[in-house]
Amino acid sequence: MAVPKKHHTKSKRNKRRMHLFLEKPVLGLCPKCSKSVRSHTACFNCGYYKGEKAFDVLKKLTKKQRKVKEKEITAKEETSKGSDKKGGLSWEGLSKK
Ligand SMILES: [Zn+2]
Repeated sequence: MAVPKKHHTKSKRNKRRMHLFLEKPVLGLCPKCSKSVRSHTACFNCGYYKGEKAFDVLKKLTKKQRKVKEKEITAKEETSKGSDKKGGLSWEGLSKK
């Protein structure tokens, strides 16, 4: 077994450890559902990657959860369609209010 040759002070130990920390992951926004997503990774919220469906999000959910999720996705798509035209304001969106 390796044995240390000299005693290292607390200062020496702490100086060595000052570079040991976790870095924040780099997050981008999903273009489909605008949730934060790690880069080069499929979105866990909608299952899309680079505009293509990577996996089925609804597959492992129960019937009740699936219904809620489907509702959420359709609501998100409708709001994104409205915001594409003019910065979030559209005649359809305004008339609903
Ligand atoms: Zn997404």
